[in-house]
Amino acid sequence: MSDSTTLHARLDTVRAGIEDALDEAGRGRESTTLIVVTKFQPLSLIRELVTLGVTDFGESRHQEASRKSDELEAPEVTWHFVGQLQSKKARQVATYSRVIHSIDRDSVISALESTDRNPATDVFVQVNLTDNPDRGGVTDAALEATTETVLSTPGLRLLGVMAVAPDGEPARPAFARLRTMSERVTRLDPTATHISAGMSGDFREAILEGATHLRIGSAITGNRPDPG
Ligand SMILES: *Cc1c(COP(=O)(O)O)cnc(C)c1O
Repeated sequence: MSDSTTLHARLDTVRAGIEDALDEAGRGRESTTLIVVTKFQPLSLIRELVTLGVTDFGESRHQEASRKSDELEAPEVTWHFVGQLQSKKARQVATYSRVIHSIDRDSVISALESTDRNPATDVFVQVNLTDNPDRGGVTDAALEATTETVLSTPGLRLLGVMAVAPDGEPARPAFARLRTMSERVTRLDPTATHISAGMSGDFREAILEGATHLRIGSAITGNRPDPG
């Protein structure tokens, strides 16, 4: 098979897996957004995915994401920033990303404050589902405070919570904890009902626990090239 045939086949396999999991969860077919994570992948692969109907792409490094969004020239595409965000880069990231999934610090939130950005940037508060403070995301104890800070910051619209499943434990109970944290956030903002969770190896479990935004890379793109 040529590379593009395999790409198409992998995309179809993932789309079918998403539909199966939505059926299993008793959820509607339109209740998730598939974001294809294309970090370290060439623009040519993104262009092929656009021809296959993909409209949402995730990137994790500012320079790379900025360059790709400049060069693609596809106005129908929505860019999602899913990587660790440095506060000094945050404003620039918001110029091309319609959605930022990795809000986890007050310094990043204040860097994104804007009274004239229109539309506002959609954001997720990233939570840390591990006990390791070096992993990205706010701690369980800081969830309400960070949520309130986002809600009081002009230029940001809160969509909900985001997380990466911890290594070395089953994904489903971890995503169940995320669902509980999502419910705590919706008590502060009833519209912030979205959950960004589920990657190549665990999107079924994430869908069963309510994920609305799936961030899937290698299951669709194949292995990532060495980032160098
Ligand atoms: C790379 C990445 C993904 C996609 O991971 P895959 O295992 O390739 O599906 C999702 N979310 C974040 C935050 C990532 O950095």
